[in-house]
Amino acid sequence: MSREARRLSRDLPSGIVLLGPPGAGKGTQAALLAARLGLKHISTGEILREEVQQGTELGKKARAYMDRGELVPDELMIEMLDSRLDGRFLLDGFPRTTNQAEALERIAKVERVLSIRLSEEETVRRLTARRVCADCGRNYNLVSNPPRVPGVCDACGGRLIQRDDDTPEVIRRRYRVYEAQTAPLREFYRQRGLLVEVEGGRAIEEVFQEALRLLEEGR
Ligand code: ADP
Ligand code: ADP
Ligand code: ZN
Repeated sequence: MSREARRLSRDLPSGIVLLGPPGAGKGTQAALLAARLGLKHISTGEILREEVQQGTELGKKARAYMDRGELVPDELMIEMLDSRLDGRFLLDGFPRTTNQAEALERIAKVERVLSIRLSEEETVRRLTARRVCADCGRNYNLVSNPPRVPGVCDACGGRLIQRDDDTPEVIRRRYRVYEAQTAPLREFYRQRGLLVEVEGGRAIEEVFQEALRLLEEGR
């Protein structure tokens, strides 16, 4: 069925959106929640990093923005998402602007929005210690969530690397961009009665249990 036909029949993709500053734990919680709730995890940051690595047209356009810690332009992001959204999703990293949120309303049904809070200092501390698997994308942290064998992914044996944008300067820039452009979406979704919030500065398992409770409440 074409997207237009699905829109008319209201058979839209539907799911959950995660909001939060860099390092809040969106990727970590998204992986846990998607597995538990049977949702398809869509991380726009991860998709973009793959496009950059493969040297696609989109990757070439996106790279400079990502390296500076700025947002990739809305029209590129909306087109990219529209071609991948399907079924029951858990969105991690989209929307990041009001423009993107409005576009999402036209192509999907957002059922709940989980906002994860974290301070700027905690963000910097966490992200300078973040490592990711070059093969499967799994997240680790040298301090709070280390791999069993240093430098090696527990899940697939892949090599752990540091993201190009996880330097203190770019981390702070991303935090400011979040506050200016993405944090206002909490109000956007609060007005629609969709927002729930959780404090991200606690143990991964505690945040997960609280998130599950909030997402299942009132459904
Ligand atoms: P985001 O997707 O929001 O940028 P990640 O899920 O990648 O965040 O987490 C950022 C870093 O912090 C990773 O190194 C991750 O292992 C670690 N981390 C995630 N959640 C927690 C937590 N609750 N406590 C401590 N460290 C965490
Ligand atoms: P974080 O761990 O900081 O939350 P992501 O992995 O979600 O970061 O995103 C990394 C980078 O990819 C962002 O700094 C931005 O340049 C780009 N990006 C990802 N999603 C979007 C989006 N929805 N709109 C614009 N840019 C995006
Ligand atoms: Zn791996």
